[in-house]
Amino acid sequence: MYNDTMAALIQKQKDFYRSGVTRPYEYRLRQLKKLKEALVAYEKQIIEALRKDLNKSEFEAYSTEIGMVYEELSFTIKHLRSWMVPKKVKTALTHFGSKGRIIPEPYGTTLIIAPWNYPYQLAISPLIGALAAGNTAVMKPSELTPAMSSLLAEILGGIFEAEYVAVVEGGPEVSQALLAAPVDYIFFTGSVNVGKIVMQAAAKQLIPLTLELGGKSPCIVHSDAPLKLTAQRIVFGKFTNAGQTCIAPDYLLVHHSVKKELVAYIKEAIQEFYGKDPLVNPSYGRIVSEKHFQRLTSFLQNGSIVSGGHTAPDHLTIEPTLLDQVTWDMPVMQEEIFGPILPIIEYDRIQDAVDMINDRPKPLALYLFTREPEIEEMVVESVPYGGGCINDTLMHIATPYLPFGGVGESGMGAYHGQGSFDTFSHYKSVLKQTNLFDFKFRYPSSKNGLKYL
Ligand code: NAD
Repeated sequence: MYNDTMAALIQKQKDFYRSGVTRPYEYRLRQLKKLKEALVAYEKQIIEALRKDLNKSEFEAYSTEIGMVYEELSFTIKHLRSWMVPKKVKTALTHFGSKGRIIPEPYGTTLIIAPWNYPYQLAISPLIGALAAGNTAVMKPSELTPAMSSLLAEILGGIFEAEYVAVVEGGPEVSQALLAAPVDYIFFTGSVNVGKIVMQAAAKQLIPLTLELGGKSPCIVHSDAPLKLTAQRIVFGKFTNAGQTCIAPDYLLVHHSVKKELVAYIKEAIQEFYGKDPLVNPSYGRIVSEKHFQRLTSFLQNGSIVSGGHTAPDHLTIEPTLLDQVTWDMPVMQEEIFGPILPIIEYDRIQDAVDMINDRPKPLALYLFTREPEIEEMVVESVPYGGGCINDTLMHIATPYLPFGGVGESGMGAYHGQGSFDTFSHYKSVLKQTNLFDFKFRYPSSKNGLKYL
């Protein structure tokens, strides 16, 4: 379905990029400031769209989407000049007389494909990186959050010409059509399965890419963790956005000695955060679509429900739910949950918990609650995962000082802060040779030349 309109758009962006306009620092800075001004001006509409698409409360909209985008923009505006400076490097003795430098260079025209769960932040954050690095961008928001998709088209269309930034709306067909375009970089956020499709499409043209994917992120609670605080931080991480967070704790691995007490504190925290009946709380998020609602409610047959479990099909809401007596062969443990259902699995030795995780694909996030430095070191060193927190959940994503991304099945590449600039830049290595003298011994005509090399 790659059609003439798309081809014309990509060509227009390529021509614009080749004109060199997007490269100077001043141009990039002006565009980032323009973007910030527009986003501030549209803040009310952004909050409304998030409410419409996902019933996000204003508090959640601000704390998990809008605030993060402002932080990312301010950080980028502040540091851009220093990131753009080419780095001078030493050369080897064999290269005496020459100089080396590494120049961050934009890729050119980039394609950003965004998901629905944080439909604002996960579309705008990569865009900030793409523009900071001097690229043009085509953005494809998710069709499952139509209010945000059309708002992004309106905001970005209002401040940028399509030759610089364009929003193309639509579903998987539009996405696949764009993946057939000869862009210079692809930045994809979404599911593991679609990630594979994206990578195959990129391989056809050898287009470099970043994949921000998902998976089952474990949350380990060791016997020495401060349980009340731990429970609050887990409830925050799991039930924000009704569990539809790529880095939400997917399941709990709890030391058997503290399970009962932890569950009691988790129930208490759910009540404290969302009230006695979360289904009627206007600030509690809803499931994005009927299809996802059906998928999630089918998990309620797994194990035994120790808290929650009620649903409101008319509003697509599911109570914060804890599942006990869960085993790995149950459907709820076979795929990423991506909803407000938290299964609990016990362990005896920390090594058992580590082995259970390492028997499965490398997770996007890992959370560990413990006071013991040895346990912390052991887990961090022996489990490969994208990123995570000790004694907290989610917060590692919200600082521009930490690059964010997955590893293995949970993704490749990282962004945020300088990580975004690096992701959207090619680091070009240049060696400049002196003409003042020459080492003739490297030429084939030189007698015994090779033995000096
Ligand atoms: P998705 O993979 O279904 O869709 C993501 C994007 O890809 C959308 O824009 C969609 O239109 C497009 N798409 C869908 N099917 C396609 C196809 N067959 N070919 C080409 N494009 C296609 O993901 P989603 O449901 O929107 O998001 C949820 C998933 O994303 C979860 O797995 C979650 O863990 C992951 N996620 C990861 C991160 C991260 O930063 N690592 C962030 C948010 C979500």
